[in-house]
Amino acid sequence: MDRKYVIGVDIGGQTSKLGVVDARGNVLIQNVIRTDTHDDVTLYVKDFGAAVRSLAAQIEGGMDAIRGVGIGAPNGNYYRGTIEYAPNLRWKGVVPLAELVGREIGLPVKLTNDANAAAVGEMTYGAARGMKDFIMITLGTGVGSGIVIGGNVVYGRDGFAGELGHTTQVRNNGRLCGCGRTGCLEAYASAVGVARTAREILETTDRPTTLRDIPRDSITSKEVAEAAAKGDRVSIDIFNFTGRMLGAALADFVAFSSPEAIILFGGLTRAGDLLKKPVVEAMNDNLLDLWKGRVEVKFSKLNEADAAILGASALAWEL
Ligand SMILES: [Zn+2]
Repeated sequence: MDRKYVIGVDIGGQTSKLGVVDARGNVLIQNVIRTDTHDDVTLYVKDFGAAVRSLAAQIEGGMDAIRGVGIGAPNGNYYRGTIEYAPNLRWKGVVPLAELVGREIGLPVKLTNDANAAAVGEMTYGAARGMKDFIMITLGTGVGSGIVIGGNVVYGRDGFAGELGHTTQVRNNGRLCGCGRTGCLEAYASAVGVARTAREILETTDRPTTLRDIPRDSITSKEVAEAAAKGDRVSIDIFNFTGRMLGAALADFVAFSSPEAIILFGGLTRAGDLLKKPVVEAMNDNLLDLWKGRVEVKFSKLNEADAAILGASALAWEL
């Protein structure tokens, strides 16, 4: 039997999305299980196995048609197939998930960190197709990154290379980051960072803005983006600040690996040019002359709902 499908899995804090993917990058069918129900990972692995078998039952050839499973997970370790100390998951310590899942379903399993999975997906199916040198930046609740050099994802000694979200961008009086340090890019250029910028600006200005109609503690980046799209000046300034912070950081990242392009992915990119314009400007303002105007900033082309599944599934073709 020809094993012509793979399964891609995106493990998030609340849910895990599984999808059967063909060689052309079509997500044929999907399934969702809860990630946050059990403290005991072996119970999660049972749910995972049931979800895989249910997907297999819906395709021609069943389990025999599936080559393997690729998993993208927070703090996923590509070398060891483990999830290690993920702050947003209920399982504590080091979880040998690839091994547990492999034993449950009897298929080979490959696991990596979610941003690295997105980079592989972008290179296989998306905006980075044909590129050998690029940096993927995921702008969601946090800021993740995947660095590709010479066509290979950079994993580093321990599998954790590419934590660009936790490079220090503000040295003095920087915001406290979820990692416990201060001034990290993630504290500014994430969805949470945008909401924080909004609260800070509202506390320090009397300028009129529709953001004042929203309870201050519940403002989201989505609401700021919507207000900015309608021409709200304060909201536009929030995206200018966010974009410039990110763009200046990107100039440093370019100096490190000289990529052809930087691909931005995730919820914040829905703000479109409101974000992209200040990012590109600030990046070029801060780049060494030799790179000015020569590094492309692109948004991911992958359908957001499928992208994480596709990215993880791309790993399974290596199996
Ligand atoms: Zn941090």
